[in-house]
Amino acid sequence: MKDKVFRMAVMFLSAGLDPENCAIFVQSEVPEHAELHLLFSMMITVPTLTRLPTYQEKKSYLDSYGFLGYPVLQAADICLYNADKVPVGKDQEKHVWLANDLAKRFNATYKKVFREPEALFTDIPMILGSDNRKMSKSYDNHIPLEFTEKQTEKRLRSFYTDPKKVHQGDPGHPQGCPIFLLHRIYTENADKQIAPPCKTGELGCVDCKMILAKNLNASLAPIRERQDELLKNPDYVWDVLATGRDRARARAGNVMEKVRTAMKMNYRGKKK
Ligand code: SF4
Repeated sequence: MKDKVFRMAVMFLSAGLDPENCAIFVQSEVPEHAELHLLFSMMITVPTLTRLPTYQEKKSYLDSYGFLGYPVLQAADICLYNADKVPVGKDQEKHVWLANDLAKRFNATYKKVFREPEALFTDIPMILGSDNRKMSKSYDNHIPLEFTEKQTEKRLRSFYTDPKKVHQGDPGHPQGCPIFLLHRIYTENADKQIAPPCKTGELGCVDCKMILAKNLNASLAPIRERQDELLKNPDYVWDVLATGRDRARARAGNVMEKVRTAMKMNYRGKKK
């Protein structure tokens, strides 16, 4: 676990998060998340949670309370810092809706403490992975930042593409192709450079993937460079996490104080 935490922090930092401008911390080191999760869990029904698409998707093999209640914990993660805009992928939209709903319920039942958060999407709100499902670490269909250039190329070669385009020369359908979605992020003018030759059949899928590998690797090069530097400097990374935890605890503690006051729970440990 320690190694995973460290590598995740390295990834955040190398991808460009600036610890001067944001708090990078380990959620379990801020116990207020668990406290607000518990209070929120009293305000939501089990059927509401079982209807969420992420639960429906995985319930056949993941049926614990922890998994069912995870979106409530996410709502606590969001509301604890009074976020109003939450950058997420399309698949997480319902979870932000749940956070909005819980914030509204709390404000209406007790006192206005929370902002009502809303999802914030980019132009491409969902990236597809190598198997054409949403790109996700848990499906192992993603491109880890830790991959080398060669590993990235190999993973891209394994990506799902338009099943009707079997041979070069066959006309393709870039819309809905996970490789084209990535081109739209990493290849300049992909709508003009990639889509037309794909549609006419002039561009084959293997060549298309190799163009993407080149552009993606070029874009990841500075991130990989920073990653190598950070891996050689673990003390700095742990210091960032410790500072982030202290900043997060200060903010979260402040909000929880308001929550307890609103719920008239501030009597704890006090003599009459
Ligand atoms: S040519 Fe590229 S965009 Fe077109 S189907 Fe193949 S991989 Fe997808």
